[in-house]
Amino acid sequence: MTANLLDFNAEQLADFFVKIGEKPFRAKQLLRWIHQFGEVDFAEMSDLSKGLRKKLSDIVVIEPPRITNHHLATDGTRKWLLSVGAGNGIETVFIPELHRGTLCISSQVGCALACTFCSTGMQGFNRNLTVAEIIGQLWLANKTIKTELAAFSNDRQNLIMTSNCHQPADGDRAISNVVMMGMGEPLANFDNVVAALDLMLDDHAYGLSRRRVTVSTSGLIPAIDRLRERCPVALAVSLHAPNDTLRDQLVPINKKYPIKALLSACQRYLQSAPRDFITFEYVMLEGVNDSVSHARELVELVKETPCKINLIPFNSFSSTRFKRSSSETIRIFRDVLMQSGLIATVRKTRGDDIDAACGQLAGQVRDKTRRTMKKMQKTETIT
Ligand code: SAH
Ligand code: SF4
Repeated sequence: MTANLLDFNAEQLADFFVKIGEKPFRAKQLLRWIHQFGEVDFAEMSDLSKGLRKKLSDIVVIEPPRITNHHLATDGTRKWLLSVGAGNGIETVFIPELHRGTLCISSQVGCALACTFCSTGMQGFNRNLTVAEIIGQLWLANKTIKTELAAFSNDRQNLIMTSNCHQPADGDRAISNVVMMGMGEPLANFDNVVAALDLMLDDHAYGLSRRRVTVSTSGLIPAIDRLRERCPVALAVSLHAPNDTLRDQLVPINKKYPIKALLSACQRYLQSAPRDFITFEYVMLEGVNDSVSHARELVELVKETPCKINLIPFNSFSSTRFKRSSSETIRIFRDVLMQSGLIATVRKTRGDDIDAACGQLAGQVRDKTRRTMKKMQKTETIT
């Protein structure tokens, strides 16, 4: 198969050039062409010799995933469905705010960890995404938004009036933040996710600061330790419950990596983290994990760990048995946390009219896990 240059971080690109008998510094030029200018045609790369342009076009390609669908929510949130072959599709979400634009990126086709309140987890799992498919989401969103902004730059006011499009100030990046919170568990696809993170941080590619790139994990402890050593970016941990009995039910991987060990991993991570706190995500499920006593238990649990708690109102999807806690319940829960000195915020629900909110991303997953087989066998027995 022809190599895809979107699959390479700076080091791998330099190795590639050495392998084809070229100077390794070509990697920097190529990174800029591919990631900063969004160029896929070697013929346009004017600071490369004609011979090298021809050689590259003979042996490699620059190929992002293909956009198959695009939705714009009433609040300006956008969702792209991208085809990644064999009937599989993944989703990427762009969330515009006044002073920042956040891209939520997928790392796997589905997710094998099967958290019971998560639409992606309920889809099953097909495969890990390649580096090209991960960074390709940023590449595509960046190019699309930049092109639109350039087209409208002469009439900014008109754009503000007629659409909810993000309006970065001059010099601001259209996409200022990346969160690995789309489909999949990023740390279960460690090598590819880290190579993509390298590109996000690389000054010759996207040049984002470590503080503006967040990996969200359900708590794969060995991988949290590896991330700390290899590429410490901001870390969000999906906690969702204040004790192991409840977390075992909501986040099944907790049986393997229980809370106490997870909190120790968070403490270790903080020694190298770009921010001096861990974000704990906590989905608010009515009657399940949202009582005042749960809040008090949570306060006790995290009191030794510098953290911010992000309460996520549950986003519904078909076939779920869970309900979102009421705004009043969420407010009371947050107040208990805050009165004890914790920093707690409630995540604004964005893009839920196009199913782009946290946990609603379903994409198109050809499930390959036994879970689906079991489900099918069960149905067969019943019918
Ligand atoms: N696999 C990673 C990242 C993807 S999920 C993780 O679990 O952290 C991103 C966030 O959305 C996680 O905190 C996840 O628990 C949360 N989430 C999943 N399903 C949700 C739902 N239906 N409503 C609200 N949040 C949800
Ligand atoms: Fe996977 Fe995260 Fe969903 Fe759990 S919440 S099933 S880890 S994507």
